[in-house]
Amino acid sequence: MAPIRSRVFTTLRRVVRATRPVDSRTRAALDRRWSELPEGVKTPAQALGRHAVGCEGTHGVFPKCNLTCTPCYHSVDANKVRVDGEHTLREVESQMAFLAAERGPRAHAQLIGGEVSLLSPEDHAAALKIMRDHGREPMSFTHGDFDYDYLRNVVVDAAGRRRFRRVSFAAHFDSLMRGRRGIPRPRRESDLSDYRRRFTEMFARLREEHGVAAYLAHNMTVTPENLDEVSDVVRDVVGMDYSMLSFQPAAFVGDSRRWHDGYRDVDIDAVWQQIERGLGQRVAYGAIQFGEPRCNRTALGFTFGDHWYPFVDADVDAEVRARDDFYAHLGGVNFGGTHPALLAIRVGRVLLAYPRGYVVAARWAGSLVRRCGGVRLLFAALIRREVHPMTFVVHRFMDAADVAPAWAMMQAGTPADDPAIRATQERLAACTYTMAHPETGKLVPACAQHSVLDPDENASLRKLLPLSVATGHDVGVRAQSRQAR
Ligand code: SF4
Repeated sequence: MAPIRSRVFTTLRRVVRATRPVDSRTRAALDRRWSELPEGVKTPAQALGRHAVGCEGTHGVFPKCNLTCTPCYHSVDANKVRVDGEHTLREVESQMAFLAAERGPRAHAQLIGGEVSLLSPEDHAAALKIMRDHGREPMSFTHGDFDYDYLRNVVVDAAGRRRFRRVSFAAHFDSLMRGRRGIPRPRRESDLSDYRRRFTEMFARLREEHGVAAYLAHNMTVTPENLDEVSDVVRDVVGMDYSMLSFQPAAFVGDSRRWHDGYRDVDIDAVWQQIERGLGQRVAYGAIQFGEPRCNRTALGFTFGDHWYPFVDADVDAEVRARDDFYAHLGGVNFGGTHPALLAIRVGRVLLAYPRGYVVAARWAGSLVRRCGGVRLLFAALIRREVHPMTFVVHRFMDAADVAPAWAMMQAGTPADDPAIRATQERLAACTYTMAHPETGKLVPACAQHSVLDPDENASLRKLLPLSVATGHDVGVRAQSRQAR
């Protein structure tokens, strides 16, 4: 009898642990993140440390790219480093293991270099698998200049078996990029419209032929040259199959040969005005903040009809209350990467302990439905699949000239007196985009990576992986891209 009871208790304990809403390692990572944040960003809207630890990215895993951009955030040696699958996989493994140990078992991570499609499909798929094995939800960062066959071979193996049920890609399209097949020198943003659409069509085909879902983000660098065209891009792209439109005002970082004047004139507000002009409406962003407002502005929502709606409107009390309760009771719950049945049990456990959550959720839903014109309208749109998730982001990197001294002083534990450097330190301390250095045991903000660490890292990689021993795939891709130009 006793062994049976013991087995029952063991099983029960396992079930309780498996259905715990927030993993204890995630909770510890969130608490640590919150305690490290500067006081100034600990606002009610702050998601870092309450719900998320922030995003992660790889570095030094495939620094090379086969397009040229102005500006380019990569250091001068990046394009002299051979793409080498073995190196990529080894580094991805080491960086992801470190991130998982330091930041908890779940996070979003970018597979970013360089250009990810210079990896062979096998290596690309293996890198995604490693990231998943470490609890990361990977997103491949690309210029989007590859063909359907490449995409299919990443997602489907040689025997025709699906490797992933879902993939995420962020495609960078803007007129500051040079060398894209078919349009090596776009003159204006609208020249790229067909290319933006074609990218999404590859994923529609992938879904149709192999049942693989995709989350697609559209990235664009903004300088004084193309700022006025942002509204046109928004108008054009919002109807395509992207779920995120992300804009990065240019910074003086990376390869200085590709810098132009005027980058400082393009701030987050200027880009946001363009987003609002493109949509012809206000785009409310105040309800949820990731990190520092000087780095990031994010508006999470959805489109329905010809309008965009935020999930939470900071001007409506019932919705703000729902956000606060979400952070307090559901913060840290892994919504994206959990089986729906398990997720339902986890949320159920939260509501069991906090039954008032039903009331709060109902009030939030009621308010949201009213903003959308009423339940009949919204329900009909949902049935007709006319409701699409759409997030707008502006992420403003910092200039290397500010980051280098700020980071050096932070490493020495010295707060800066200079207001500009002090502001840079505050932003670095609240960074939402982290890179791993297992060899030194450090987590590094992407700004510090690109401004301070990339030059030496790529100089070393250039010696380790010289171009002269290029892989067959690397050679093939370069030959293919030369032919196309
Ligand atoms: S510190 Fe740099 S990388 Fe981090 S969130 Fe701010 S701009 Fe982005």
